[in-house]
Amino acid sequence: MSVVTRDPYSGKVLETFESDNPENALNKIRKSREAQKAWKASIDDRIGYFREVIKPNFEKNTDELATIMTEEMGKPISQSISEVKKSIKLLDYLIENAREIYASEEIKTDASRSYIRFDPLGTIMCIEPWNFPVWQVARAAFPAMIAGNGVVLKHASIVTGVSLKLQEIIDSPLFQSLVVDGKTATSLIKHVEGVAFTGSTPVGASIAAEAGKELKRVVMELGGSDPFIILDSADLSKAAKAAAIGRLQNNGQSCIASKRFLVQEKVYSDFKRLAEEEFSKVVVGDPMKKETYVGPLSSEDQKRSVDAQIKYLQSKGKVKFFGEGNGNIIPPIIAELDENYQEEIFGPVAVLRKFDSKDEAVRIANETPFGLGTSIWGEKSDAEMMVGDIEAGMVFVNSIVFSDPRLPFGGIKKSGLGRELSKYGSREFTNMKTVWIN
Ligand code: NAP
Repeated sequence: MSVVTRDPYSGKVLETFESDNPENALNKIRKSREAQKAWKASIDDRIGYFREVIKPNFEKNTDELATIMTEEMGKPISQSISEVKKSIKLLDYLIENAREIYASEEIKTDASRSYIRFDPLGTIMCIEPWNFPVWQVARAAFPAMIAGNGVVLKHASIVTGVSLKLQEIIDSPLFQSLVVDGKTATSLIKHVEGVAFTGSTPVGASIAAEAGKELKRVVMELGGSDPFIILDSADLSKAAKAAAIGRLQNNGQSCIASKRFLVQEKVYSDFKRLAEEEFSKVVVGDPMKKETYVGPLSSEDQKRSVDAQIKYLQSKGKVKFFGEGNGNIIPPIIAELDENYQEEIFGPVAVLRKFDSKDEAVRIANETPFGLGTSIWGEKSDAEMMVGDIEAGMVFVNSIVFSDPRLPFGGIKKSGLGRELSKYGSREFTNMKTVWIN
């Protein structure tokens, strides 16, 4: 079996990779496990390896890695470079904070001494999607590794080149890229101690079910249909600029992209006009050009599924295109719809809907099966009053939703289980071991 990667902008074949058969893949897991025995011994050595090998290798390879990413999945090159740089910032965060994150915690009890250790679990399988092919891996794999675990990566097939380049950059037997399909990866879950999955909700649910059979630790980062709520007290011009970034970055293919724009009736037409101005300024086209902000969707399949969603929106409401599409490119789109739309649109399509009161905004915000991130725009106290009732893992006021290494990232409902990043997410793949000494 082999995997063929294709440039979604030109349609050209990029490379053909030989797949690992299940035995090869298992050997890679064994290799990582063997290396983990020494790796887990010293946090100082692990921090040293992150500082002296992994970080400089990422810095040296930033442009090459970004180029492979853009060629394989169509992310505009300037955003690919930013993604690699953001991943280097996560390395910095871990280099600086790992000692504290994984330090034993003393707890006063009746024992002469009692404390909690955060020991690594063993080998973690990271199953990752194509949309942020470097950052997604960084978020799951770096904390797991610095905690003392080994990592095997099953990356999305369309970004196999990125996957192998990451293995080269990390340059340790501890981190192995598996070139396997989803079925083979799932069959190997029994050989690892935990699974970090980022991807769609149905696939995540099936992987969590498999991991559940073996009682393996899981972290699930799944889909979202995040609301972007604009109150009548909002700075509309700032909100419209943020709406364009939040909805259109990564060609609209982000789990935390603002997807449903809920606008208070009084400011609806003003916000719509400003958002249209912002959407019409966006440069659409060749993702290799520095000025491009919206490039092609990642594959023909992806394009087909977004096209079907646009057709549905056209049948139910008003749809306006800002530019021409060709090949896998869909230009920025604003749709107006006066009904509940629950699907996640993985493309540059903003759906606008009016609301009357704050209570109605919260009700509409919550009426999806997802609960990843919510962005609220308006007077700080007005917006903050709504936070407690929003069903989401993250709420950002007067900002789009984004990930920051210092804060937990993740969702509730059908958007996921567990957290990534921060000290909380960084401890997900550890054994919180109780120690009691008399
Ligand atoms: P996907 O189809 O679920 O694929 C994700 C990963 O799972 C890929 O490595 C894929 O490999 C693998 N996979 C697919 N089918 C599988 C199966 N039956 N068993 C085991 N593994 C399987 O998701 P996607 O379309 O690539 O990514 C988009 C989705 O990810 C969106 O829903 C988005 O919201 C979500 N996402 C969530 C977050 C978050 O942090 N919450 C972040 C980014 C993306 P192949 O490529 O080989 O099929």
